[in-house]
Amino acid sequence: MTLRQLRKRCKRVVAELNMPETFDILDLCRFLGERRGRPIHLVPIRLPVHTVCGMWVPTDSFDAVFYEQDTSPIHQMLIIGHELGHLLAGHRPAAVLEPDASKLLLPDLDPQTVQRFLGRGTYAAEEEREAEMIGSLLLHRVHDSSDAAGTEPPRDSPEAALRDRLRQSLEHPGR
Ligand SMILES: [Zn+2]
Repeated sequence: MTLRQLRKRCKRVVAELNMPETFDILDLCRFLGERRGRPIHLVPIRLPVHTVCGMWVPTDSFDAVFYEQDTSPIHQMLIIGHELGHLLAGHRPAAVLEPDASKLLLPDLDPQTVQRFLGRGTYAAEEEREAEMIGSLLLHRVHDSSDAAGTEPPRDSPEAALRDRLRQSLEHPGR
């Protein structure tokens, strides 16, 4: 798939959501949960270094999106957007949990459980690009609502450089 085709597909996924105007990331998750008929729970977690920064784990009744707790709020937003991208694109999840999954939402998730998730297969490069693109389209809507000007930072500005670096570090912190 060319980049142009990929972008078109991602834009369609996001357009089909018909997202209302004002959002923060929690509103976004609430909206998506209602739309899909399955709540999305955001779960901060301390993930082992040099592994991943986030994970999407569906259960029988809800979707859990884990994100690294020890990083900046903007990085957390990028992680969450990326994982929502995998979810919306219909990718195969990192793991699917059995009905005892309510334990997932406890503040201290068993490190062995985390390791079990991490041992599962990884996404293909194209799926990563797709998740990244859908995530950035979603966050653009969030960003627009919190910033009246709604403008992207200039391409060579420090803000843009920071954002690019954060995007690249998502799920590939070792690179
Ligand atoms: Zn990913």
